Amino acid sequence: MTSRNDILKELGLSPQWRLAARDDKTKTAALAITKPKPPPPPKPVTTPPPSPPPPPKQFTAQSGAAAELIAKMDWPQLYKTVRECRKCELCARRKQAVFGVGDTEADIMFVGEGPGADEDRKGEPFVGAAGMLLDKMLAAIGLSRKEGVYIANIVKCRPPANRTPKSDEAASCLPYLHRQIELVRPKLIVALGRVAAAHLLEDAPISRLRQSMREYRGIPVVVSYHPAYLLRSPQDKRKAWDDLRLIKKIAAGD
Ligand code: URA
Repeated sequence: MTSRNDILKELGLSPQWRLAARDDKTKTAALAITKPKPPPPPKPVTTPPPSPPPPPKQFTAQSGAAAELIAKMDWPQLYKTVRECRKCELCARRKQAVFGVGDTEADIMFVGEGPGADEDRKGEPFVGAAGMLLDKMLAAIGLSRKEGVYIANIVKCRPPANRTPKSDEAASCLPYLHRQIELVRPKLIVALGRVAAAHLLEDAPISRLRQSMREYRGIPVVVSYHPAYLLRSPQDKRKAWDDLRLIKKIAAGD
């Protein structure tokens, strides 16, 4: 019987070569080398945990650009800006910002330190016990907060426990007072107490600053005792009376 091998031999197709099992492996390996590498399996997508939200902004310091804007404001803009101000930490504990009160065309501007508890509650400067004394002092020289007088403070928000305003708090707030002074254009500024005097003129004892005329941005300034001090030290009311007479004289242009 003719075998398959015999037929192949007849056809010149023998010997028949077969790939050994080992060769098959090698071939496969060779093929594998030339084949483009399969892309690496996709890395599992790991989403970073969301970062915690930034703490709410309590306040931002007053920038030079902000101060320039304030210097151009009219009364309503200035009022709104002060009432909404969050430029220093005093905003965190205030009930409200205390803008200023009085005659916007006044000849005399009184500048105090900062609101106390009564002012914080009512939104008007000098309405507590010290304010009542100030009203009496004004009346003594024929003035009233309704006419001829404008009253404002170095800082517009109450410092906690009525502490002295910090220098950065006063610095943030001063552009507002500057603009108030520019808008009122008083003939005379009266600095009530050492803090007001320190920020408008220089930090020195009242006894050294009073009874002389200084200047702030070209406007005459007189320094006198703070009414709250006079309530504690009534023996100095006599000197305060002398200051009031000087104030009256300067405002009258004598
Ligand atoms: N003391 C101040 O200096 N200002 C006020 O408005 C009240 C008390």
